[in-house]
Amino acid sequence: MTMHFPFDNSYAALPETFFARVAPTPVSAPRLVKLNQALAVQLGLDPDWLASPEGLEVLAGVRVPEGAASIAMAYAGHQFGNFVPQLGDGRAILLGEVVDRGGIRRDIQLKGSGRTPFSRMGDGRAALGPVLREYIISEAMAALGIPTTRSLAAVLTGDRVVREEPLPGAVLTRIASSHIRVGTFQFFAARGDSASVRALADHVIARHYPAAAQAEFPYLALLEGVIARQAELIASWMMIGFIHGVMNTDNCSIAGETIDYGPCAFMDVFDPKTVYSSIDQFGRYAYGNQPPIGLWNLTRLAECLVPLLAEDADKGVEIAQNALGGYAERFNAAYLAKLAAKLGLFTSQPDDPQLSQDFLAAMAKGRADFTLTFRRLSDAAADPDDLSEVRRLFEDPAAFDEWAPRWRARIAAEPQDGVTRQAAMRAINPVYIPRNHQVEAVIRAGVDQGDFGPFEQLLTVLANPFRELEEFARYAEPPQPHEEVRQTFCGT
Ligand code: AMP
Ligand code: MG
Repeated sequence: MTMHFPFDNSYAALPETFFARVAPTPVSAPRLVKLNQALAVQLGLDPDWLASPEGLEVLAGVRVPEGAASIAMAYAGHQFGNFVPQLGDGRAILLGEVVDRGGIRRDIQLKGSGRTPFSRMGDGRAALGPVLREYIISEAMAALGIPTTRSLAAVLTGDRVVREEPLPGAVLTRIASSHIRVGTFQFFAARGDSASVRALADHVIARHYPAAAQAEFPYLALLEGVIARQAELIASWMMIGFIHGVMNTDNCSIAGETIDYGPCAFMDVFDPKTVYSSIDQFGRYAYGNQPPIGLWNLTRLAECLVPLLAEDADKGVEIAQNALGGYAERFNAAYLAKLAAKLGLFTSQPDDPQLSQDFLAAMAKGRADFTLTFRRLSDAAADPDDLSEVRRLFEDPAAFDEWAPRWRARIAAEPQDGVTRQAAMRAINPVYIPRNHQVEAVIRAGVDQGDFGPFEQLLTVLANPFRELEEFARYAEPPQPHEEVRQTFCGT
């Protein structure tokens, strides 16, 4: 048999306590819904073979390819603040790792591929709706330039999964630079197994933070590296109105990628308190809470690493606290720089943070659409005397009217011309995001009618989020009141 996957598995070489060896459970009638051809090529895989009957069997978990690791990873995690000592891949199987064309090691994982020793009460399966959702949003995030897991394929299984009602089952092939989470460290730390915490830290340094190996204190450098990437990641989420929805420590990637798209959503009208997830009753993971929750999660990681930071426990805690102290500064610097860029500022002035905050406050007061307001401001940068297209997005424009002359004066003080500023702003302020009402409509067409045309169309639009096209006009529009989606579901 030819080697269709050039597997090079490193995680499966770690101690046996790190995972369970388990094969996917076969399904009855696999059918390809979507294959990400460009991503396949980037991974060094043959898209034609993946789309062949044999390839489809692999993507559906019917056949385990040669050289696969086929493991379910062990992890723990804090779910909504409560520690669960054992979670693990209950419905996912890591087929193995390949080194992509850019030299980066990538996990190939099947999600929805059947029960594992970590399934607890679950069936190990995924319904089509959440699979389409993860496919759309992860690929949109990638196109927006946000670090994220990717989607290689979505297949129908031909079997029904029972949720509140019977639904078509599906498997998503997920690609990640790894599936190691804060919760993976917690799994071993909670068992007092410091040898495994160390082995995991060494693996993560080699794989994701190679520069830390050269540092004077490699484990501290690792912690600082994870802190820096999470600060940067969450600042990027804030720039596009993304709400992860379940920032549990088991959904927090050590590599700094957005992972586990469940009830995540993009905000329409700007309001920091926005929550969509049906299970987030108290708004723990609201849009505006994401930065402090990031620190909370990193603090849980730091606790696991304390024994590696110093021989003396008190000293270890002190070192960890110092590192965590850097998060706020990192986050704020990234957040303010990105926000200034969204406003089209090329230089930095002491009053810029205030100018940014007042713009957001005006949007909140005026119930303006977050994405479209920044986009129309970008358009207006070529001729800032006419802000009418921005202004009409505000239900109540009073605060915007006060703000607008300040912005005009601020950009006028810079040497860049309007066209240059417009281009720079358009390159970072998207016109198309996966709006909830559109994502829901596409899922309904796929699940209820087996019509994947709208899904394909939405993927096409979201693949170029910064280039506005006449024919895609409706995708830029916020929902009409009757279209608004107020709640999203985990859909496990
Ligand atoms: P999530 O909320 O998707 O991050 O998952 C939390 C935990 O529940 C993880 O350990 C999952 O593997 C597990 N899980 C979620 N859905 C299922 C399912 N259908 N079958 C088995 N385990 C599941
Ligand atoms: Mg998860």
